[in-house]
Amino acid sequence: MSTFSMEKHQLTGRSLIAGETAAGHGETFFGFNPVDGRALEQEFFSASIEDVDCAVNAALEAFAALAESTGKERSALLRSIAAAIEAAAPQLAEQAHLETALPRTPRLAGEIARTTGQLRLFAAMVEEGSWVQAHIDTADANRTPPRPDLRSMLRPLGPVAVFGASNFPFAFSVAGGDTASALAAGNPVIVKAHPAHPGTSELVGRIVSDAVKASGFPAGVFSLLFDRGHQVGAALVQHPGVRAVGFTGSLRGGRALMDLAAQRHEPIPVYAEMGSTNPVFILPGALQQRGEDLAASLHGSFTLAGGQQCTKPGVIFAPTASADGFVDKLRTATRGDAAFSLLTAGIAHAYKRAIAGRSELLTAEGAPAQDSADGHWASPGLFETTSDHFFANADLGEEVFGPATLLVHCSGIEEMLRAAHSLEGHLTATVIGTDDDLMQNKQLLRVLETKAGRLICNGVPTGVDVCDAMIHGGPYPATSDGRSTSVGNQAIYRFTRPVAYQNWPQAVLPPELQDVNPLGITRLWNGKLIPAPTS
Ligand code: NAP
Repeated sequence: MSTFSMEKHQLTGRSLIAGETAAGHGETFFGFNPVDGRALEQEFFSASIEDVDCAVNAALEAFAALAESTGKERSALLRSIAAAIEAAAPQLAEQAHLETALPRTPRLAGEIARTTGQLRLFAAMVEEGSWVQAHIDTADANRTPPRPDLRSMLRPLGPVAVFGASNFPFAFSVAGGDTASALAAGNPVIVKAHPAHPGTSELVGRIVSDAVKASGFPAGVFSLLFDRGHQVGAALVQHPGVRAVGFTGSLRGGRALMDLAAQRHEPIPVYAEMGSTNPVFILPGALQQRGEDLAASLHGSFTLAGGQQCTKPGVIFAPTASADGFVDKLRTATRGDAAFSLLTAGIAHAYKRAIAGRSELLTAEGAPAQDSADGHWASPGLFETTSDHFFANADLGEEVFGPATLLVHCSGIEEMLRAAHSLEGHLTATVIGTDDDLMQNKQLLRVLETKAGRLICNGVPTGVDVCDAMIHGGPYPATSDGRSTSVGNQAIYRFTRPVAYQNWPQAVLPPELQDVNPLGITRLWNGKLIPAPTS
């Protein structure tokens, strides 16, 4: 049963350090209502460098207990966070709506459900236990040279700094996928709240903090820090006690943190999910058969949530010479759109700057320049160019965060292949084609495999399922490490490292590696996969 109540959790505007409300001496700031651009009532206090130190030291003290805890104990913690978030869902959605202008339903309600679903997904994973990848090679005295007893499994890293995202106030924020996967693996978490939704961050932070206390873990397992600038985030990444970083945001921000982490005496991994343009390739057969339907679904996808989705289709390559239906439909749909409110003043300014730059270079549809003075409003834009122009202007391939996309008119498949080869890393790449199109253009898939983490056939890239097989990653600059995913079960592997134990007595080994397999998990035993016993 959840113990969360809104009376108990009035906003304080203060950071939460190991279960305690921080004094809050730092520079202050306010959340903003994006609809009218007005500051909200609650004042928030930036944390100090001393606060960062306290949070990291508390996390270091809590690490041993969390790392030694059983999967069942961590599972119980994750489930209690999920239950408490569910119990508080109406209030949380209200606060997030105030700070982001995202609709309460279905968007915020759906995002809360996704967040609790993620927490329970990791809970089930660590409860079952096989995720640790237990490998056991027993001693072999007859081999030349003799083999010692060697056993390995994944272990947690230590305190993880998580940077909440602006565009997903729940699923990629305080109790989002980074936090859930880090806690599940046994790592304490220190969240740097995104200033775009500080009230939501505080409410969720208090839920997590209370759940940690109630579960009997040391309070240092979780802290939440506010900052109106970059001092706290930079200090966290540079703190010798922090062992890894999870980030979702801009290429500039992610890259700055990667560089800080690399400059440390002991560099640490930064798992940053950054900019992606999510290219879409429409093959000729599909364009002829269902051009208007494709235009409608792509329009819906690039304007979803005001285009503030990391998987927004930001560039579309198509052989449009005889595809008037597709092009006309895309133009008229964009022209008919009302303005969208963007999440923050910074995002609105960046969007307006980007579309002003594009408007000078390209033909445009929609009314991207007509923005109201109040609030962070922006109108959608469809930009069009030729493939030659695209190849000559590398910045046209960069992410424009907001409701805009770029249609690149190609003369045929050769140009589309050339475009695919020219791409940098992306989270997704989409190919739309008839069966014949797809069979005749397998080469396109082979190229895109090297460019994106998720390859979509006959769909749109927005909508990221949370499941075992999901990969929400991709080569740089989409992420800092294309070998990982920030969504789905496999996100847990980011915050672990493999450790081998050589010749240790059974009673001292972690249970996952003991001969009797007390946890009943799936293991690789002398090269053979031994499935978990079914009972
Ligand atoms: P952001 O500017 O990268 O900020 C993300 C978080 O990192 C914030 O808490 C920010 O603090 C912090 N930060 C940024 N630069 C930092 C630095 N040098 N040192 C320490 N901390 C730093 O992202 P945003 O505010 O969410 O949105 C801005 C742009 O990011 C968008 O226009 C869009 O292009 C991109 N974006 C991409 C995704 C995606 O999923 N790929 C999602 C959201 C945004 P401050 O807010 O105080 O700067």
